[in-house]
Amino acid sequence: MIVSKFGGTSVADADAIRRLARIMASRTDQRPLVVVSALAGVTDALLALASTAYGGSRDQLQAAVEDLVRRHEAVAMDLPDGELAMATVRTDAEALLASLTVAAGRRLRPAELDHLLGHGELWSSRLVAAAMAGAGLRAAWVDIRPIMVTDDRFGRATPCTPALNTRARECLGPLLDEGIIPVTQGFIGATQGAVPTTLGRGGSDFTAALLGAALGATKVEIWTDVDGLMTADPRIVPTARTLSAASYDEAAELATFGARVLHPATAMPLVREGIPIVVLNSRRPELAGTIIEPAAELERMGDSPIRSISWKPGITVINVRAPRMLGTYGFLRAMFEVFERHEVVVDVLASGEVSVSLTVEDRSRLEPVIHELSELGDVWIDDRRAIVSVVGIGLRTTPGLASRIFRAVPPANVEVISQGASAINMTFVVREDDGPDVVRRLHREFFGD
Ligand code: ADP
Ligand code: ASP
Ligand code: MG
Repeated sequence: MIVSKFGGTSVADADAIRRLARIMASRTDQRPLVVVSALAGVTDALLALASTAYGGSRDQLQAAVEDLVRRHEAVAMDLPDGELAMATVRTDAEALLASLTVAAGRRLRPAELDHLLGHGELWSSRLVAAAMAGAGLRAAWVDIRPIMVTDDRFGRATPCTPALNTRARECLGPLLDEGIIPVTQGFIGATQGAVPTTLGRGGSDFTAALLGAALGATKVEIWTDVDGLMTADPRIVPTARTLSAASYDEAAELATFGARVLHPATAMPLVREGIPIVVLNSRRPELAGTIIEPAAELERMGDSPIRSISWKPGITVINVRAPRMLGTYGFLRAMFEVFERHEVVVDVLASGEVSVSLTVEDRSRLEPVIHELSELGDVWIDDRRAIVSVVGIGLRTTPGLASRIFRAVPPANVEVISQGASAINMTFVVREDDGPDVVRRLHREFFGD
């Protein structure tokens, strides 16, 4: 079997959903399972509803919910069997409006927010299942929540793999065996007690990979709005080229450091069985896309020793200077315990003799972290920073690459430099405003334009 995941722009309107149905019609012999994201922009619109419920009037809230229903209606009316799907969307939206009205005037709790955000995928999958059935495919809408069992860390829930594997085989296996195409939601799950959760923004790719691993897929397709994994984000570097192949590690590094095309955890469930991920453009299905698999280790990107350059804005650097650190042990442990206690994820770390610099993306719990770190040494913050990461297996074996990288960066200033143990990436921090320009300069250095 295969898993085919369609991102927001690949289900954005009726034309996109018709393209999806055509793509799936060409794959029925591969026993596909379809995973969909919310229509483009809908998750953000749902998130905005939370603010309207908090600070807006009852009329504004109602108007915003109606807007969302109309957006789905406009798509549904242009699709075969769309009206059928809309009946559920309307009932759901009414219930949602009622629950938001009750919660009006206060901030939603994380569990309530996850319940709210999950509607985008529930609705888009209804439209897609209806459109596929209308196009003559044997499709069945499946609620993924009882299958995608997670813990209760709302907003970034972790799947419980054993339970999820068993349920996926039990619930989806028989449908696939009968030649039916299950159409289900990315991004969402539920706790053992059936409380809805989400896997974090961009999490539909992760859903596809988890289901692919659970069901022993021969490949996981990620259908999106670009031709594949590219040498840089084409929105920053218009001349970026599509990679024919990349390894799991390279894809994971690129995704972690800003290449939004894949969720950073996508490769993780697939590594053990070596199941390939193929990134494809839903507007140009005839192209081969990028294959992400272990064998890609051997493939080189033309003459370039590197595969791709990514960047991630919105980064804060925390610097801790502690002269007591010199020649003592336990300092790093004490420091990391602070981050662990407050569940703050550290992305990049660089350490000197008496100081440590590390980067975080989530600023929401920074205050108590800084307060506690101040007990260990002098702490200062550099905000509005970006991480730039140069990634490629060639970094392991090509001498002199670091000097090529850092010659290309000026006049921007490089702040925190780090190279992981896998040695396939060189990562550093620059001012956020310099980020796009640094990516372009590096691209010119390594890819010639
Ligand atoms: P989807 O809605 O299909 O999940 P996303 O918006 O999450 O799509 O991801 C696709 C986007 O990722 C592209 O439009 C592109 O701008 C961006 N992107 C960033 N870095 C890269 C890269 N290295 N290769 C390809 N796309 C990238
Ligand atoms: N719809 C969700 C988001 O916008 C999940 C996804 O698209 O992968 O984050
Ligand atoms: Mg995405």
